[in-house]
Amino acid sequence: MNEQESDGRSNMSETIAFIGLGAMGLPMASNLVRKGFAVVGFDLDRGKLDTLVGLGARAAGSVAEAVTGAAIVVTMLPAPPHVRGVILGGEGVLANLPGGSLVIDMSTVDPQTTDDVAAACKERGVAFVDAPVGRLVSHAERGESLFMVGASDEGFARAEPLLQAMGTTIHRCGPEGSGTRMKIVNNYLAVIGAQLTAEAILLGTKLGLPVDVMKAVSGGTTATNGQFQINFATKVLKGDTAPGFTIDLAHKDLMLALAAAAQQRLGLPVGLAAAGALGAARGGVYATRDFSALLDYACDVAGVVPPRLPD
Ligand code: NAD
Repeated sequence: MNEQESDGRSNMSETIAFIGLGAMGLPMASNLVRKGFAVVGFDLDRGKLDTLVGLGARAAGSVAEAVTGAAIVVTMLPAPPHVRGVILGGEGVLANLPGGSLVIDMSTVDPQTTDDVAAACKERGVAFVDAPVGRLVSHAERGESLFMVGASDEGFARAEPLLQAMGTTIHRCGPEGSGTRMKIVNNYLAVIGAQLTAEAILLGTKLGLPVDVMKAVSGGTTATNGQFQINFATKVLKGDTAPGFTIDLAHKDLMLALAAAAQQRLGLPVGLAAAGALGAARGGVYATRDFSALLDYACDVAGVVPPRLPD
């Protein structure tokens, strides 16, 4: 069960434990199942687990049960405390996983959490890869995610077939821990871009400009950005604020960036300003809405009817 093929790549007959079947984890695990990997899933939310089982995965009743007999464990959890609890906890992954296995954490966490998890894996003879995920839930559903990978050559060779089954774009960022660091930088840009886009659309709306005109013009100048052209255009501007990536998780990622900056004695003035807006937005109903709904929150505060793209 725990064997590898001689080239170090993972073997399709190995069992993969997938823990965390939320907005991202469920479509990612579903792609593994569809592409023939043997997957055992676990999530605190039984409904999500049942969906994966419907596709052909096995269900586990706990983290310990999920990882027992697995050769590879994938975690896709909300934030650092969840990752520490699930991987390092007394009833967690490392307490139940034999040496020679592989842990791939795909959650967005802080560098210290990744470094601590990597060190604990090494101590137990378990390989570790950090592979946080870029792009949107819709990409994950289509198996078109982007991965930022921190790994040794051996760890990468073993993780690669899974990453190929879940995405189209793999960036090797360096050794263990570099994927997490890259993800924080990436999401700093993405989250600030979402806030900036919300403010620009609010301003244009108040000035009487149709949002489709704003989209067309900014899409053809250096102002073009994926938040307006891809994320906002397919989510909030079509009236869809179901997550996706929640404002709560976007705020978490912004705070990860600001904490990393503080540790490096860097000031990020634009980030600090955006943190005020996201921090207030997550205080109420907007916390669980898609992060493109930063537009609706900005409009709400300003007493402006949120614009929508024509059908
Ligand atoms: P989510 O909140 O939708 O899903 C998290 C899942 O983890 C939930 O189903 C929850 O029940 C489960 N969970 C929590 N604690 C658990 C535990 N102890 N044991 C088992 N399951 C547990 O979050 P998401 O949007 O899928 O994001 C997951 C990670 O990926 C986050 O770190 C996020 O920042 C990152 N991310 C999200 C997106 C996105 O667009 N949603 C994109 C890229 C990266």
